[in-house]
Formats: sequence, C-alpha cells, structure tokens
Amino acid sequence: MEEIKGLRKYELPPLPYKIDALEPYISKDIVDVHYNGHHKGYVNTANTLIDRLNGIIKEEVKSYDIHGVLRNLTFNINGDKLHTLYWKDMAPEGKGGDKPGGKLGDLIDQQYGGYEKFKKIFTEAANSNPGTGWAVLTYDKENSNLNVMTVENHFMNHLAEMPIVLILDEFEHAYYLQYKNKRADYVGAWWNIVNWDEANKKLDGLLE
Ligand code: MN
Repeated sequence: MEEIKGLRKYELPPLPYKIDALEPYISKDIVDVHYNGHHKGYVNTANTLIDRLNGIIKEEVKSYDIHGVLRNLTFNINGDKLHTLYWKDMAPEGKGGDKPGGKLGDLIDQQYGGYEKFKKIFTEAANSNPGTGWAVLTYDKENSNLNVMTVENHFMNHLAEMPIVLILDEFEHAYYLQYKNKRADYVGAWWNIVNWDEANKKLDGLLE
C-alpha cells in the first residue's frame, strides 16, 4: 500500500499592509494582538490538530474523540480563513472607505435602494449580533442576491462554502483595546476603511 501522506498544513498569510496602517480607526496595538496573537494562533492550532488527525488516519493514535478534534479543527481553519478575508477587506484611509463602485455598487443600488440604505441594514445587523461572531455580505449565485448575514462564532463544524464578499469581525478582541464596550463605535469607524476594490474583485470572480 502507498504511504499515506496525510492532510497538509496551513500557513499564516502576510498582513496586506503595515501594522499601523488602519489608524486611527483600528489601532496598531489591536492589529498586532489580533494578527500576531489570535490569527497566528488559529493557524498554529489548526496545524497541531492536523498532526493529530493524521495520526488518527494513519492509525498511530488509538484513542481519540473525533467530534472534539473536528470541531476544534473547523474552528481554527475557519478562524484562519475568516481573518484572511477580514484583513483584505480593509485598507488605509484614502484607499478604503467612500462608497462601492463597479458591479457591487450597481447591485447594492438595485437590491438595497442605494449605499446609505445598505450601510444602515449592515450596521444594524452588525450591532444586533450577540457575542462572538461576524457580520458578512454573501453572494448567492442562484438568484444574484447580496445577503447581509450574521455568523455566530466561526461557522462551527462546517467549512463555509457560501462565498463572502465583505466581512466584519465582531469578536471583542477586534475592538476592545480601543473601543472598550462601545462596539457600535468600532462598527461605525470600520466604514472608513472598507476596501471596496477588494469586495468588487471578489464579486467579479463570482460573476465569471
Ligand atoms: Mn478576530
């Protein structure tokens, strides 16, 4: 029998800008802890769990809790993927913010009656999301709908397939150092650094 190679490891992607690039809206200290602490932690833990799963696949590990291993693995892999999207969906002031143009802007106009109404719905969704989670805009190929959604935790026990066009991290670690318990202020500030070019790029890829 051919040697089992096992599942491959993940790598922390580079931050797409300098660590202080999102100031004043998101402080250097937050980006440092969030990227070098939390995001890196998800990647490292995912890789430790992949080692364990490979041990299970190769029958080197005899006693294990498969539900626990897979639950932790999806939490950490999705932690990596969701944060990779989140970093790219922001850009320094001047490059980010303003309003979406392109096909995303057109679709928002058609379906939400303009950017301001869309922004209001997304903001309300974000501010209503309990505890740890994400506010996201997804695209449904079936009917071309742009769906504002909230995600609890990290899509537990599932590797997300619904394509995300735009994402906002709402875990306390994303804002607490700077905004304390004023999450709505963080959500309000985030609009100044939304990378609409990136969101449009993702949508264009889905429309092909
Ligand atoms: Mn986070």
